[in-house]
Amino acid sequence: MKYFNEHTIIFLDGEYVKAADARTDLYGQSLHYGYAVFEGIRSYKMKDGSTKIFKPVAHYERLIASAQALNMPFSYSVEEMIVATDKVLADNNLGDAYIRPLVYGPDNMSFNPNTISHFTIQAWEMQPFLGEKLLRVMTSSFQRPNPKGFRITAKASGHYVNSIMASHEAKAKGFDEALLTDMDGFAAEAPGANLFYEKDGKLFTPALGHILPGITRATVIEICKDLGIEVTEKKFTTEEMYGADAAFFCGTAAEVIGFESLDNQPFAKAWNDSVSKKIQMVYKDLVIS
Ligand code: PMP
Repeated sequence: MKYFNEHTIIFLDGEYVKAADARTDLYGQSLHYGYAVFEGIRSYKMKDGSTKIFKPVAHYERLIASAQALNMPFSYSVEEMIVATDKVLADNNLGDAYIRPLVYGPDNMSFNPNTISHFTIQAWEMQPFLGEKLLRVMTSSFQRPNPKGFRITAKASGHYVNSIMASHEAKAKGFDEALLTDMDGFAAEAPGANLFYEKDGKLFTPALGHILPGITRATVIEICKDLGIEVTEKKFTTEEMYGADAAFFCGTAAEVIGFESLDNQPFAKAWNDSVSKKIQMVYKDLVIS
């Protein structure tokens, strides 16, 4: 996958520059220690040809909260970041795209706080709804980080070492994706997406506390409210999901993507007959309307 070419424009510290000319130093806490925060946002091409960013305010509010949680100096407003994102999309002629804002530190090899942060917004083309396929998921041997050891509601770069390890393990064992537990052994989330399962027409999802509070998760809960589908946020084990009717991961990049199996256990309903599939369809309509 090529993320940029010689024409690609990115936002970097208030300027719009060519990605190929952009520089960063090699002596920062972000590269060495994973001390950075980021977002993953999608834009979609609408039926009338215009481009719309999905829930930009929620994403940029979370970026500000993530920077605050890690004591990173950061003063961009949500509005300024949305204006910059619109320009990056327009300059690169992007419609269906993935947008990656990143706040990272200046040169500093100590653990002392920084007085400034750098901020970049990058974007590349991403086709929507590739995920028609169903996932073979395994319960990971990796647990999500202890919330007393990390600011787990922050989307912090260093947390993703945990995600990468869990993904490597799942793929090495022939699965499509990992489902990580929390430090107490309850189902938590995917390396980069939240979890729901369906039983008797009702949905269940891990309660907040050990997971990233996903914007897609919140959207799914809103969709369920609109459709009159009961959603319960609670602790449950992955074994309790065996024999459920259906399950899915949801996230900005993943959108809503169903499970084929969990730990090689199939689900009771065909995906196309599940309530979850209905939610997937409503989500698709929502992001492009
Ligand atoms: N959990 C983790 C660990 C993630 O990285 C993501 C992707 N940001 C999510 C959940 C889903 O969050 P969202 O719906 O806001 O993209």
